[in-house]
Amino acid sequence: MKTAESIQEIREQVNHLKSEGKKVAFVPTMGALHDGHLSLIRLAHKHADAIVVSIYVNPEQFAPHEDFGTYPRTIEADLKLCKEENVAVVFMPDTETMYGSGKKYFSIDIEELNVHLDGGSRPGYFQGIALVVNKLFNIVNPDVAVFGQKDYQQFRIIEQMVKEFNHPVELLMAPIGRAEDGLALSSRNSYLSSEERALAPSLYRALTYVAQQIQNGVMEPSLLISHQQDELEAKGFENDYLSVYSLDTLQPVDTLSPGNKYVLAIAAYLGKTRLIDNLILEI
Ligand code: AMP
Repeated sequence: MKTAESIQEIREQVNHLKSEGKKVAFVPTMGALHDGHLSLIRLAHKHADAIVVSIYVNPEQFAPHEDFGTYPRTIEADLKLCKEENVAVVFMPDTETMYGSGKKYFSIDIEELNVHLDGGSRPGYFQGIALVVNKLFNIVNPDVAVFGQKDYQQFRIIEQMVKEFNHPVELLMAPIGRAEDGLALSSRNSYLSSEERALAPSLYRALTYVAQQIQNGVMEPSLLISHQQDELEAKGFENDYLSVYSLDTLQPVDTLSPGNKYVLAIAAYLGKTRLIDNLILEI
């Protein structure tokens, strides 16, 4: 396994792989790798000949009050896992490499897709992600890129960005990797105390309960949803959102209709830890 820290190095490595006729898949991450990330790498192997993983905690997607400083960084363990997963190259740029110094004159605006879910709660978050993924695509130039359904809004925004900016890359979405009790795996789960960790799967249980009721024919789930939110609050969660959104436009939907696809998404804080999860519904 190779590592690259500069743009020149990673470009040379990818060019070399491509010159050998290899299809290159790219898995961007912020490190602190867990089984969810590894499932992305495994899916990438099914669709390409060589895998590039990036590990970069992108300061542009953190608001000043958020956890950029304390975000888990476990680079030695990450490299070991990448090697075990037969990754060809790990790209580990620093912020000077990614953003350089000097005034910046460009940013990426996102309309509508950014208004609800995490976009509504975390101003600037998806602009920061769109910026870094745009740059990473230009730097790595992959044939395929893999993102997780765990961050469905991120996937949808990147899908649209690829389309509108003509990035020559095929996108794949990997299913959500979960712990045995249903909790979606996340690097931030390491922030949870043991009591919080025991409570955390309630989030997934609330989601699956609402999804089941919808599959059973409840087409206006708002009362059901607010009841679930009350129960979560009583357990100690601080709710951010729990709602059904159009899979395509990410606008909230009050009345569901057959033949459509939706995403039922939740975000809540447990102590200081923000947890998110979602289920895709086909009615
Ligand atoms: P992150 O390191 O959190 O920025 O995540 C890097 C990639 O892994 C993103 O595409 C995430 O959606 C994906 N990912 C994170 N957690 C999971 C999970 N539990 N299951 C599937 N994909 C995930």
